Amino acid sequence: MTSGITRAAAEELDAADALAGFRERFVVDDPELIYLDGNSLGRLPAATPDRLREVIEDGWGAGLVRSWQGWIDWGARLGDRLAAHVLGARPGEVVLSDSTSVNLYKLAGAALDAAPGRGTVLIDAEDFPTNRYVLQGLAGQRGLRLRRLASDPDGGLDLDLLRSALDGDVALVVLSLVSYRSGALLDMAEVNELARAAGARVLWDLSHAAGAVPVDLTATGAELAVGCTYKYLNGGPGSPAFLYVRRELQAGLRQPVWGWFGQREQFRMGPDYDPVPGIERFLVSTPPLLSLAAVDPALTLVEEAGVARIRAKGLQLGRLADELADAWLRPLGFRRASPREPQRRGCHVSMYHPDAWRICQTLAADAKVVCDYRVPDRLRIGPSPLYTRFTEVWDALDRIRAVTADRTYTSRSADLARVT
Ligand SMILES: *Cc1c(COP(=O)(O)O)cnc(C)c1O
Repeated sequence: MTSGITRAAAEELDAADALAGFRERFVVDDPELIYLDGNSLGRLPAATPDRLREVIEDGWGAGLVRSWQGWIDWGARLGDRLAAHVLGARPGEVVLSDSTSVNLYKLAGAALDAAPGRGTVLIDAEDFPTNRYVLQGLAGQRGLRLRRLASDPDGGLDLDLLRSALDGDVALVVLSLVSYRSGALLDMAEVNELARAAGARVLWDLSHAAGAVPVDLTATGAELAVGCTYKYLNGGPGSPAFLYVRRELQAGLRQPVWGWFGQREQFRMGPDYDPVPGIERFLVSTPPLLSLAAVDPALTLVEEAGVARIRAKGLQLGRLADELADAWLRPLGFRRASPREPQRRGCHVSMYHPDAWRICQTLAADAKVVCDYRVPDRLRIGPSPLYTRFTEVWDALDRIRAVTADRTYTSRSADLARVT
């Protein structure tokens, strides 16, 4: 069982890699550990600890409450950078706040309130659980019908199914641009057009897309979006999420959590809620400043690299993983659980194996390969292009082959851990 791709060929890809220099701008504590889970929690940028120390000591320690003069609109300033370099949006259309789940609740609530004559919400039955639960809650509270589209867990949502479900009663469609499990990538422009023709709105979740694949919210006619900053954007555990509302829609939408950070002349402390017309009307409360500060140096790296180059390398990493998996892992019982072509995926790929969970644990414990497991039987591999080497993908697939072939994983417990 040998692949046509030798380790020397992977070394050549590393030597020719235009982004190779970015790896040293991240903390790589153990160079032997192969980290293929940047799609769950991106690595720590080397500049982040000093930046946070500065914000803590100078901003909080010395400046105290006076520092809020400079901090108050940091979420909007970071939002403008994200809009320009990552999301293809215009200034004043993106802001960082809250979490992805909470932003999803706010924007879905706003969109549903603005479509009182329509009673149906469409979601992908295979979407990330928080999206399904948030929409289930909203639909229940408002007496709406929640329709779950049966998509292919490996191949993604069939747009013919979406087209036939888009009748005149649909108010809102919630979809992930890149599926969290299979990595399936949707055609944003086509989905937006289908929904527009049916008079429905689309709320996009860009959590597994932002910083991994090119996104052009303006050109594709997108209206609403949310997403994480701690995956491919490397903002750190629980860093604030982003939300996007197309400029033309902002004044006409009102989100359901009426907090003082959305209020006109906030510090006048007026008697009644009267939100600002712009993107900040979708804010609620005091931002988690330290987590927000960590997004700043992380975003600088993505800006410097550029999403086009990140995507180009992501496709190459995907092709390498595919070829090695076909040659080495398929004979051991693995099967691809993602679209066949890397262009139809985000930056991660999933593989089915009946013992995926035990193999995943063994890889981390005995083989220094961190990837992740997703129920019911998938191993998910996410080589984040900013810091992952081609030789790491080669070595990781080689170690997966060895761990699976020698079957030491069979001594492990099949019980799931608290976090997988
Ligand atoms: C990671 C992820 C989230 C995370 O939501 P939190 O509110 O940050 O816990 C939401 N949606 C999708 C599609 C994700 O992949």
